[in-house]
Amino acid sequence: MGRPSFLHPFAKPASEEFIEIVAGEGALVRDRNGHAYVDALASLWYCNVGHGRREIADAVAAQMHRLEAFHTFDKFTNPAADQLCHEVAGVAPMNDARVFLTSSGSEAVDSAIKIARAAHATAGSSQRSVVISREPSYHGVTFGGLAATGLPANQARFGSMLPDVVHTQKDDLDAVAAVFAEHGERVAAVIAEPVVGAAGVYPPRPGYLSGLRELCDTYGAWLILDEVITGFGRLGHWFGAQYYGVRPDLITFAKGITSGYLPLGGVVVGDAVLAAFNHEPDFILRHGHTYSGHPTACAAALANLAILRDEKLIERAPSLGERLATGLRSLEARGAVADVRGDGAVWAVGLHQGADASAVRDAMLSRGVIARPIGADTIAFCPPLVITDEQIDQCVDAVGQAVETAR
Ligand code: PLP
Repeated sequence: MGRPSFLHPFAKPASEEFIEIVAGEGALVRDRNGHAYVDALASLWYCNVGHGRREIADAVAAQMHRLEAFHTFDKFTNPAADQLCHEVAGVAPMNDARVFLTSSGSEAVDSAIKIARAAHATAGSSQRSVVISREPSYHGVTFGGLAATGLPANQARFGSMLPDVVHTQKDDLDAVAAVFAEHGERVAAVIAEPVVGAAGVYPPRPGYLSGLRELCDTYGAWLILDEVITGFGRLGHWFGAQYYGVRPDLITFAKGITSGYLPLGGVVVGDAVLAAFNHEPDFILRHGHTYSGHPTACAAALANLAILRDEKLIERAPSLGERLATGLRSLEARGAVADVRGDGAVWAVGLHQGADASAVRDAMLSRGVIARPIGADTIAFCPPLVITDEQIDQCVDAVGQAVETAR
């Protein structure tokens, strides 16, 4: 076929060889040649309920037949968006929360930063523009999300970033305190993933997230938890905030809200932020996307949330994560990998120095498992919450064998 017209994300523009995925069921996907793979990363950290769910397809079709879409700017709404926001607010760890909708995690992060700044400005603190993030971290690819992202390689060649974003090393509370000491009155928000995901899978040091909360309280800044990966079950709770016992002001989400059946993201906005908007009764939130509250995407999300609840999949995350972690730790014990890190149902192995994570990924593919390399030394696992015990063991065996062959 020659060079494909599809210019792929996060790929070399010259790449010509791709694996065509054409079908999926549960934690398995199939390529066009009929090869089956265990989807050890829930596609791209999102397919929590597994592939091939007829309930979601039916809900989407039913919504499409009634009304495919209508916008929600100013005066308009639709029942699916209203119901979804009601359900998300109901499981979020904030009082009287409301929910802003987007189509992706990057847009959710941009929205959270804008809402954080606008709330301060409306309450009379328009100088509060600084966002404290950390390194490593992944918050997306739009200019807001990219500026917040703590991965310099992702920012290279894209020119100037959103100003006023300061990065501190992950888990270093003293560094965050130092930024507050210097910029206190200018800080709008701190943003952090409960577990750093796409930037390497690092659970927080005990006390780190609650330390961020305390600093935000002391200096009057908002705490944004970016739960694009950790939301909707990954850590055995609706949100990682609940698992780690931290109260955020804003939560960004995407991915697991629909398990990827349609694109949808958003921001849970807590009562303190909402109260700030009340300072100016005529304030208009001049922010929104064409597809904010898209009814068909919301219908997919509602069906997905029903599956998570009915099949108790959130409750399943810790035990499946434990089986995965136990298997990976046995590889560490025999020296096959350098370290094992993670929490809930998101884990990674660190490879020994000199390893090539892409080669390990390729060797795993030939053993029928799709995992994700991060940098040169990490292989990440974030399986669908419906993965079977046998499939978990297959993932562990595949990475164990792959590190031998890729050596
Ligand atoms: N925030 C986090 C924590 C993420 O993991 C991601 C994507 O992996 C994003 C934001 C960006 O989401 P999207 O790729 O949907 O724009």
